This record gives sequence, structure tokens and C-alpha cells, in this order.
Amino acid sequence: MTAPVLPTYNRASVAFVRGEGVRVFTEGGDAYLDFGAGVAVTSCGHAHPHLVKALTDQAQKIWHTSNIYQMPGQEKLARRLIELTFADTVFFCNSGAEALECTVKMARRYHHVNGHPERNQIITFEGAFHGRTLATISAGGQEKYLEGFAPRMPGFVQVPFGDRAALEKAITPETAGILIEPVQGEGGIRPLLTQDLKSLRELCDRHGILLLLDEVQTGVGRTGKLFAHEWAGITPDIMAVAKGIGGGFPLGACLATAEAAKGMTAGTHGSTFGGNPLATAVGSAVLEVVTADGFLDNVKDMALLLKQKLAALKDAHPDVIEEVRGSGLMMGIKCKVKNTDLQAAALDEKLLTIAAGDNVVRLLPPLIITAAEVGEAVDKLDRACRKLSPKAA
Ligand SMILES: *Cc1c(COP(=O)(O)O)cnc(C)c1O
Repeated sequence: MTAPVLPTYNRASVAFVRGEGVRVFTEGGDAYLDFGAGVAVTSCGHAHPHLVKALTDQAQKIWHTSNIYQMPGQEKLARRLIELTFADTVFFCNSGAEALECTVKMARRYHHVNGHPERNQIITFEGAFHGRTLATISAGGQEKYLEGFAPRMPGFVQVPFGDRAALEKAITPETAGILIEPVQGEGGIRPLLTQDLKSLRELCDRHGILLLLDEVQTGVGRTGKLFAHEWAGITPDIMAVAKGIGGGFPLGACLATAEAAKGMTAGTHGSTFGGNPLATAVGSAVLEVVTADGFLDNVKDMALLLKQKLAALKDAHPDVIEEVRGSGLMMGIKCKVKNTDLQAAALDEKLLTIAAGDNVVRLLPPLIITAAEVGEAVDKLDRACRKLSPKAA
């Protein structure tokens, strides 16, 4: 029998019909603590009153016009993003992969208008994840996503993560830029060191190439700063954002300096739905929440608490947990058991987590979590680990 929905996902058997704050509920009323946030999306938690109001207010007015008209909601959100970041200009789209598509197109176009169309190669890193479109699977370079989808798109060169010599060697007169996640998400929560980001910036400047950051997962407060690169005190030329910025409504954005964006003139790029009035109304509301006084301080406090509790969890379960790593509320547990077994055991305890590469279980709670909820999640993980421990059998 053919599945009514194309079976491209390994879905857990639960369905959630309602959410509130850090919890989601099944039809039967079972509550789960959500430490996945729909893969770092529901940054403000479920059914945040400010977001619900922004969406429903806009829904009463107008849902969709077109990018062939003025878009006041985009103007408002773009101005706010510009105030808050390195960027001078913003393109709106609907997803992370689309934000990356714009990033790649803009980087190539920049060199094109500078008289260097041969500078069209983008360097990426092993273990990277940039989306599932044809260009972004080629950019990410992971075999498991590319298999059967040949031909692989040209224009991307991959180097091993953390191999400085290989990176320098990969830069040629055809390089357009370096694309990197400040913390690899799907790849298994592998953070770049502050120093690495700084030296990537210097490397790009030295070669006249662009630093392209994929902050689709790390952005919008996830690491305790509005954007993860702020920890390193550097700025990119172009940055892809999505996931958390819509708080659950599909929204992506490509932020850039005026210089990097100078080739993107009328007609060079577009999207029917990108930045539609509903999406940008919610995006502005998300930024109001995330930039409110004390919000990011709570993220940093909760991140520290979570890190401490996870370190204790690792000490208590050395046969289950190999390592705990990450940044802010983007934490990874590298497992000694199968990561999907820990994920399933956590689900049994009614805790939602997300599996990642390198045998890691990701913890990506909504940024509004409290100390009590952090404690509750780690207690659930503790019970899950106890069940999985070889000694328990
Ligand atoms: C999720 C993700 C993407 C792709 O986003 P989609 O909205 O699924 O297209 C790209 N880059 C990173 C770092 C991501 O985590």
C-alpha cells in the first residue's frame, strides 16, 4: 500500500495536537516536555500569547499580497534585524535551505559584479548540514543525503572539520567564500571555537572572499547571544537564518552587508511566499520577545544550569554517555549506546529530544525554559540512562 504521505521520514508513533510553553500534548492529553522544539524552531515555546496575538491580528487583516508590491511587514522586520546585527539588508524566504540558496547566489553574484565570475566555488566542511535542496545537499556534502540524487551540483569544495591546513590549501583564485555553521547542528553539535571563527574572518579578508555563516539553527538566541558569531566578536558578510526566527511559522532570512549584497538587483532573486504578511508579523513578534530585557540572560543562565546537570548526568552514567558538548541551549549528548536508543528511552519518559550525527542526542529546548523544567528534563534523562545502562540488565 502506498503511504498517503511520502514516507521520507522516520517518524515516532506519537502525534501532538496542542502545545503550551515547554510542553506538548497528545490527543489523549499525555504531556511531553519538549526539548527538541521542533528542531530549534519554537524558540518562544508553544502558543506564546504575544506570538498568537501577532498572528491572529494579522490574519484578520491580510494574509498574502505579493513581493510585486510594497511589504510593510518585511520593512519593519528588516529594519529591526539591521538594528540588531551587522546586516544592511535582508531577503525573506520560507526555510533554512532557501536562506542558504540566497546566501550562495549572493556570494557568486558579488564576485560576478566585481568582474570575477570565476570566483564561484564555496568551501564547506565535513559534517555540515545546509538543507535538502539540490544545492544545499551538494554544499553539505553528506553521502547519506546525496545518494541516488546525482549529479552532484558543482561549486562546492569540502574540507575536514577543524583542519586548518586543508582549509588554506582549498582556497584558490576560484573561491567565492567559506560557508560554516558556528555550531554544527545535524552533524552532532560540534561547536567552533571562538578563535576559529576569528581566524576564519581573517582568512576571508586576506583572500578577498566572503564569510558565509549558516545560523539557521544557532541563531535567534539559541546560544545565549542573538547570533552565535557574536561570541567571537566577528561579523560575517552574509548569514542564513530560519528555524527560530518564525517561532513555528515558516520564515527564513538572508542577511547581508551592503557590499556583499551589491549584485542582488531587481530581478536577480525572488520568492512567491517569502516574507508574507503572516510570517513577518510573527517574525517581528519573536524578535520582540527574544530581545526583551533579561530574555537572553535567562538563556545563558539556563544553559549553564543545563550544562552542569548534564555533566553530573555523564558522571552518573559513564557507560551510556561519552561526552556532553554544545553552546547555550544547543546541547549534545554523545552516546556510548545508540543515540536513537537514548532518544527512544527519553520519549518513554515523555521527554522529546532530537537525534543528530556522530551518535549524538540533541537538546534544544524552547528558550523560555525555567530551572524547574531543566531539572525535570535531566531527571527524565537520568531515568532513561538507567534503563539503558548495561548494568541495569
Ligand atoms: C535545519 C537547517 C537547515 C535547513 O533548514 P530547512 O528549513 O529545513 O530548509 C540549514 N542549515 C542548518 C544549520 C540547519 O540546522
